[in-house]
Amino acid sequence: MSPATEYRYNRLTWEDMNKVIAMQKVVLLPTGSTEQHGPHLPLDVDTFLTESVCLEVGRRASDRVLILPPVAYGLNLHHMDFPGTIHIEPDVFIAFGLNITKSVAYHGFTKILIVNGHGSNGPLVDLIARKTVLETDSLCGTVSYFSLAMEAFQKIRDTSVIAHADEFETSLYLHLAPERVRKDKIGKGDDVMGKYVSSDSTSNYPVRFHDIWGRWTQVGVHGDATAATAEKGKIIFEAAVSGLMDVVDEWRNWPVAERSDQHARPVQSQIRW
Ligand SMILES: [Zn+2]
Repeated sequence: MSPATEYRYNRLTWEDMNKVIAMQKVVLLPTGSTEQHGPHLPLDVDTFLTESVCLEVGRRASDRVLILPPVAYGLNLHHMDFPGTIHIEPDVFIAFGLNITKSVAYHGFTKILIVNGHGSNGPLVDLIARKTVLETDSLCGTVSYFSLAMEAFQKIRDTSVIAHADEFETSLYLHLAPERVRKDKIGKGDDVMGKYVSSDSTSNYPVRFHDIWGRWTQVGVHGDATAATAEKGKIIFEAAVSGLMDVVDEWRNWPVAERSDQHARPVQSQIRW
């Protein structure tokens, strides 16, 4: 595969890199987790699903994207009551992710996009992107793959809660790797629903709150995976892939404007924050 059409960042040599930097491919960083996903799904759900969406975008738009190896760990102390989960402290995660994006920027890529698959990483990847913009000459944004598929999912969903190892994630996993889903273990989560507070992960409830999972579920599922099907997963996957391709194209063309300083007198530009 030539550098122009190779979409996996670490399959390139350093000589290839000069060619793809000149092409200004958009660099995607998938971020997931290693985290319990109920009795029916493996711990790799968030990493596997977001990386699968990114890699498919790479296959379809290989002339304009590069996919970094994923960050497969995230903020997860709330899942520690379930065996196997790995937790990374927020400050460690932000520092680690920022080191990746700054390295990419250093080499000359000007457009970086973090594609998140683990909801609890959301505030952290936002900060990584913001810090990248402030500390480099490149632009970095974030998007969650699930947000890009939500409009399509709304039309086919049969359950009311979107949260964790639910109809959405289980359907997508059934589409991509059905042999890894323990189908006899698929069940309904034990959700806790109030008027303002709930275990739903969407923004439909005004109070943002996330309890320790050993406190609000016995099975590690919120939402209802019994409604999951591979057919729904295919629709979710196609929506996420085509949505991410649109995002990549807009992001690639987004202008990096010249910065203008409105001070009338010289500023103390030696100050570092
Ligand atoms: Zn998940």
